[in-house]
Amino acid sequence: MTGVHEFDAIVIGAGFAGVTAARELRARGLRPLVLEARHRIGGRTWTGTYDGVMIEYGGGWFSPLQKLAMKELDRYGIPLVEGVLPFPEWAVFPVADGKLESFDGPESLGRLGELLTRIFEGSDKLLPDPHDPLSTGDRIRAVADTSLREHLDQLNLSPRDDSWVNTLVAGFSGGYSKNGAYEALAQWWELAGGALESWVTIEGQAPATGMNALAQEILNDARARLHLNSPVAAIADDGELVRVTTQSGRQFSAPVAVLAVPANVWKTIDFDPVLPAVHAKVAEQGISVPHSSRLWLRVRGDFGPVHVRDDEGAPLTPLFTHTMLGDGEQLLTGYSQDPSFDVSRPEQVREVLSRLLPTAELISYKAHDWGHDPFSLGGWALRRPGQLPLLPELQQPHGRVAFASDGLASGWSGFIDGAIESGARAAAQAAEIAS
Ligand SMILES: Cc1cc2nc3c(=O)[nH]c(=O)nc-3n(C[C@H](O)[C@H](O)[C@H](O)COP(=O)(O)OP(=O)(O)OC[C@H]3O[C@@H](n4cnc5c(N)ncnc54)[C@H](O)[C@@H]3O)c2cc1C
Repeated sequence: MTGVHEFDAIVIGAGFAGVTAARELRARGLRPLVLEARHRIGGRTWTGTYDGVMIEYGGGWFSPLQKLAMKELDRYGIPLVEGVLPFPEWAVFPVADGKLESFDGPESLGRLGELLTRIFEGSDKLLPDPHDPLSTGDRIRAVADTSLREHLDQLNLSPRDDSWVNTLVAGFSGGYSKNGAYEALAQWWELAGGALESWVTIEGQAPATGMNALAQEILNDARARLHLNSPVAAIADDGELVRVTTQSGRQFSAPVAVLAVPANVWKTIDFDPVLPAVHAKVAEQGISVPHSSRLWLRVRGDFGPVHVRDDEGAPLTPLFTHTMLGDGEQLLTGYSQDPSFDVSRPEQVREVLSRLLPTAELISYKAHDWGHDPFSLGGWALRRPGQLPLLPELQQPHGRVAFASDGLASGWSGFIDGAIESGARAAAQAAEIAS
């Protein structure tokens, strides 16, 4: 190794993968520098408040089944707030010809649960160890190219059942069920215990302090130098040193680097030497769903807690009650995977709400569009058909650069737990390279 360096490792990106990598590098005796593009840490988690209620613009919930996340909460003494969502009294679902209708909440959500259970029948045989998704070898590879849409087609569901369950899997897939891999959602199902009762734990429970406070705790333990507002434009690895150049032209070097940005943004960085073929392919495709906005709407209306789902490709689906505020007001939260829905335009938000809940009056709203955000270019990771077999190679370092992000997790890919897993792995790889 040539020269003396102020830092032993450069971590690019201060989301959960990056802050975990930085802390684990420090734990191995390496001094990390963290370069973060935005003015804040946390990445696709972003805690805010809305009229006194804590909200998350991105990742907001943990399941007690997410062991790595639970370990972090335990480590920093942060309690998990149980069951924050009120159970919907009524629901809105699509019926024929693009129309929506109201249904009883417990009954319709019960039906949705039955359908979900049906579509994952047999996935325990494909994914007996869901933390090791390729463990069944040829058996799982045989379905790796199958999209969620293709899987639904094999089940011969009635048109109503198909459209209801499709609203769910299309949402997870980033708008259309043809874009999501069946194996990826089946893995979520198996990670969540392979049963509806435990599946529902993936939504609704939040750390009492919010996600960004947890990320900050992890970063504090890294004792890292942090540069915010430092988007990285280029990474050059000469075999001895990694030289990192920011968009403003600042240069940093260290013997190793951890690239902890989503695969969706790899294509915005110049790599020398160029990325290996598998990484280059996934950089083009992305692993995170391409379009994702999270909305928070304060509405007034004479109705109780509600759960709304629209057809695939619709501008806002799902939308559901987060908090009953009293005086006929409630705070709804929803997701959009429609790139043409401009959440910065109140008239568009009002129009979309009037289709879903015609009697609701919009008082105000907040939103963030992750798909058009240059530092995420998408939402949560959900593998596309054909990507699973690439995972072992994607998890390997390229020269002196190790990769981390939720989409590269073996376990909870697409979740904060997965980001933590991948950050820890990348730190171990980087420390090995540096030794
Ligand atoms: C709407 C939404 C809802 C979600 N809900 C949940 C949930 O309830 N529970 C859950 O567990 N997960 C959820 N997720 C997923 C979760 O947020 C992610 O899995 C997790 O935050 C990913 O962490 P990461 O560190 O891999 O990536 P990121 O959080 O994206 O971190 C990457 C970091 O790299 C930075 N960066 C990007 N480009 C550059 C560059 N060129 N130079 C320097 N820095 C750069 C970014 O600014 C960012 O800080 C949700 C995601 C979204 C979008």
